[in-house]
Formats: sequence, C-alpha cells, structure tokens
Amino acid sequence: MNELELLKKEVDHCTKCVLSKTRTNAVFGEGFRIADIMCVGEGPGYYEDQQGRPFVGKSGQLLDKILDVCGFTRNEHVFIANIVKCRPPNNRDPLPEERETCIPYLYKQIELIKPKIIILLGSTALRCLIDPNARITKVRGEWLEWNDRLVMPTFHPSALLRNEKLKRPAWEDFKKVVAKYRELVNEAHFSNYC
Ligand code: SF4
Repeated sequence: MNELELLKKEVDHCTKCVLSKTRTNAVFGEGFRIADIMCVGEGPGYYEDQQGRPFVGKSGQLLDKILDVCGFTRNEHVFIANIVKCRPPNNRDPLPEERETCIPYLYKQIELIKPKIIILLGSTALRCLIDPNARITKVRGEWLEWNDRLVMPTFHPSALLRNEKLKRPAWEDFKKVVAKYRELVNEAHFSNYC
C-alpha cells in the first residue's frame, strides 16, 4: 500500500471531528496519484457522501465537463479533493473547527501528490488555503502562490449552476490553467477549445 492509500484508509476511519457522526462515507478524493493539477473544493454533498467519491452530483458533472473541454481527465491529469472529507449535515458550511481539524489531510495529500497547479473551487477553499479574508470575486483568475505551488482560484461549479453569468469568467480562469499546464508540463497538450 502506498502512502496515499494509507492516508485514505486513515481518512475512511477518521473520527477526529463531529462530521464523522453524520457521514455515510468519508470522501478522501480521487484522481491520478501524482497529478500535475489538483482541484480543491469545500466538502462532500449528498451524492458524494452516499458514494464516497468527490464531485459526483450536478456540480461534479459540470466540473468533469469543464475539465474535459480543457483536455483533462480525473484518471490522467487531475486529483480532486475537498477541504473537509465528511459531509456537513444539510450541506451547511463546514465550521472553522471542522476545517482546522481536517485540513492536515489536505496538506498531506498535496505533499504526496505534488501538483504543480492547484485550482481552488470557491471561497471556502480560497479562504482556508490562502487568506481567511480573501474574496473569490476579487481574486479569481489571478495566479497566487501557496508553498511554492501555483494556485488558481475560481468559482465553485455549484455557483456556475446557480448563476449562468459566472460561466464565462470561470472559463477564462480554466483557459489560464491550460496555458500554464502547457508551459509547465506538456507544451503539446491538446484541448479542442483553447
Ligand atoms: S471531516 Fe475530516 S477531521 Fe472530520 S471526521 Fe471527517 S475526515 Fe476526520
């Protein structure tokens, strides 16, 4: 068993915060074990909790479509994880103590996967990783740095589902990710649309 698999086992049985009491499954994350791109969201929703997989509901389907347009897949290019690994009841925001208790797992995932680019999906991910006062509407689309890694904050796919107008700026953000991926990883990376 590799270190990432061992970490998953730990998360699957974790009872460090109260979210363990109401979850069906912990959602460790999934994707390529040494992905160059990591997407980080807030936490599992209903379908993710049921299936134990990240981003499998409507938001996840939209994320997969966006990644597909960019020429990326979960199996080959991306690892997808969340700030908290267990679903907050009724999809409420994770509480500060829950985020603080869980985030070392994400730090360890980043350390093991070593992505060159981290895409932060939405304000919770942005605030947890970069700055508690940061606003997604202000900093989205700007390259930031976290522990020597490039970070692209953008809207959470659920925000795109709620507000069609956000789709165009989000697409601009993902185009920047494709360009950076070509610069850092594979200049011949193929995408149909950008
Ligand atoms: S949310 Fe994180 S810290 Fe809390 S029980 Fe789940 S895995 Fe453990």
